[in-house]
Amino acid sequence: MNTPLFQRVAVIGLGLIGGSLAAAIRQQQLAVEVVAYDREADDLRAGVALGVIDTAETSVAAAVQGADLVVVAVPVRATEAVLAEIRPALSDQAILTDVGSTKASFVAAVEAVFGQLGPRVIPGHPIAGSEKSGVHAANPELFANHKVILTPAEGVDGASFERLKSLWEGCGARVLAMSVGYHDEVLAATSHLPHLIAFSLVDTLAGEDQNMDIFRYAAGGFRDFTRIAASDPVMWHDIFLSNRDAVLRVIDHFSRDLDQLRDAIEHQDGAMLLRVFSRAKAAREHFTKMLSGQAYVTDMNQKQVTFRMQPGGSMNGDIRVPGDKSISHRSIMLGALADGVTEVRGFLEGEDSLATLQAFRDMGVTIEGPDNGHVRIHGVGIDGLQAPRGPLYLGNSGTAMRLFAGLLAAQPFDTELTGDESLSRRPMGRVADPLRAMGAVIDTAEGGRPPLKIHGSQALTGIHYEMPVASAQVKSCLLLAGLYAEGATSVTEPAPTRDHTERMLEGFGYHVHRKGATSSVSGGGRLTASEIDVPADISSAAFFLVAASIAPESDLTLRHVGMNPTRVGVINILRLMGASIEVLNEREIGGEPVADLRVRSATLRGIDIPEDQVPLAIDEFPVLFVAAACAEGETVLRGAEELRVKESDRIQVMADGLAALGVESTVTADGIVIPGGQRLGGGTVDSHGDHRIAMSFAVASLRAEGEIVVNDCANVATSFPGFVELARETGIQIAAEGE
Ligand code: NAP
Repeated sequence: MNTPLFQRVAVIGLGLIGGSLAAAIRQQQLAVEVVAYDREADDLRAGVALGVIDTAETSVAAAVQGADLVVVAVPVRATEAVLAEIRPALSDQAILTDVGSTKASFVAAVEAVFGQLGPRVIPGHPIAGSEKSGVHAANPELFANHKVILTPAEGVDGASFERLKSLWEGCGARVLAMSVGYHDEVLAATSHLPHLIAFSLVDTLAGEDQNMDIFRYAAGGFRDFTRIAASDPVMWHDIFLSNRDAVLRVIDHFSRDLDQLRDAIEHQDGAMLLRVFSRAKAAREHFTKMLSGQAYVTDMNQKQVTFRMQPGGSMNGDIRVPGDKSISHRSIMLGALADGVTEVRGFLEGEDSLATLQAFRDMGVTIEGPDNGHVRIHGVGIDGLQAPRGPLYLGNSGTAMRLFAGLLAAQPFDTELTGDESLSRRPMGRVADPLRAMGAVIDTAEGGRPPLKIHGSQALTGIHYEMPVASAQVKSCLLLAGLYAEGATSVTEPAPTRDHTERMLEGFGYHVHRKGATSSVSGGGRLTASEIDVPADISSAAFFLVAASIAPESDLTLRHVGMNPTRVGVINILRLMGASIEVLNEREIGGEPVADLRVRSATLRGIDIPEDQVPLAIDEFPVLFVAAACAEGETVLRGAEELRVKESDRIQVMADGLAALGVESTVTADGIVIPGGQRLGGGTVDSHGDHRIAMSFAVASLRAEGEIVVNDCANVATSFPGFVELARETGIQIAAEGE
């Protein structure tokens, strides 16, 4: 049993909200006694009969007398008169709160009656309700899993605030605190305006001659959209009159936007309609995810997914793995800046590319999709971006932030780039410093961290930059800034990095001069829209290359795989180990080489992995370790320090996982030594949330002698959507539990 938080709670106004709160307090035993006053004696009698309250009082004063919490739950316009009746009976120590839908009006009423807002006056507003009103609709569960907003003033008594918060939490609600002004602005936009539109729309249609027919033929959408037009007219009349200024601001904003749509329809401006609708659709989808408690891209970490594999099997079939992330991402950027419409197919809906897509929509670019990997981008031309209304939010994408910094440095408007908590900790000095050398004006937070404030309208001048550390993101950032700079911008890299930006610029008809380790562009050119069938990601293909190599009697074809020379280390290494991989049908798409790969079972042998192949296969080592364990003879990896600081210490986690299956290995400072010809037993492996490790052990099951269970596999769905289905279809006996 709860220790009651209050001795006597007085509810003034026993309707839907007052009655529901009283009932919840009684049900949860949060007060010793709940009393009420309402101007309708019938309602009070019903309140007692329904068990909503303990006692009905015959006046406001009688109810408030001796109460340590007074809740005003009358329509907002009645508040001031009720407060005047409360005042003489209210104890100094009592907390006074309300449930009204507008908050500035409550504060004004308190000030009018009491002269000031005392430290125990705490305005409140439960974001829960119903179209029904009156005590008969009271429901003690009404607030469960809903939000309650409290808007305490600065001088509030902390202990009283905590007590009131605990009361709402005891009723199942989640309590948020914000200022009165902010509350009224937010509610004007998200609640008051939609109610006004619903009332107005139904009224307009009801006034049409054919009204009965209109309603008869109305589809489900109309019913959903107008549900709130059945709300209590008196209550809403009160709300609009009380929150006048904030509501007028959003009505004006909405009227302007509605007029623009009207003009677009009148003038057959399809591009404008498409721009608004696709932006709205994306925002609504984003909102749906937020409502269901998910991040921008489904936050898979919240779920626990376990892979369970039965041993053995062979790999057969003809498949295409999902599209390359880096190429998907860049296709949006260049497509947006090109002249004409760019069609992208095989697009990977990863976090980076979705954040970028939204940012370009915010800068006025119409983008249709993604729809089953198909995206259509209506390019605005190299100088066609428009100032976004607010900061560009780039989620978790470091790539997006670094590339945007270059792209936006020379736009004629200012921009602010923000990201989630983890992105906000990543240093951006590596791109801000060379951009400043080109003439960009960029402010960062402490330590060169986001948000980045980019001051527009700067004339950039090309520079030559020797990158101190090899980074494809820094290189890409400077080349994109170079599109807008006077003269040539060139970047020299100390070691080869991925060159997707250079290749895609060429694919969009923008010449990139490449000589040795240096790439350069000259500013002032234009991009031409292109068709991009995003190559399948070689890093995803790698699991299947190893799987079909180690499983007996396998013959598997992988279609349309990206064969960028900076990424093909896994194929080179597997071939050195004796794998049978045929490269068929080589071609070029949007500047990127692609091919079909046919892989058949082979007897692999251990090798010393050539160090020049290490940077070209850095993401593929976990699955290559599985190949090494199945090979004959020892495999030695050196020069892979980077692998120890990835999502996990990949080398150690792989070694631990292999050990769990009875496979020996020796971890070294910069690599690993794996004796070959080992038997793989069954066992349980912890992937430490590293998607590549999880998929590698799914592959290992093909040669295992017992069941393999891999924990913490939820991240797989983000990097390789459909992995489990594709693995099962081709021959791995895998089940995912907890999805
Ligand atoms: P309700 O069901 O109509 O209840 C209001 C009650 O207050 C009625 O019983 C009413 O009596 C009584 N009342 C009116 N003036 C009074 C006065 N001068 N003295 C004593 N009692 C008086 O309305 P509700 O939906 O509970 O709304 C109450 C408050 O909650 C409003 O401020 C509203 O903005 C807020 N709110 C409502 C919702 C929602 O969805 N309904 C959600 C959040 C917040 P009569 O029956 O005689 O009029």
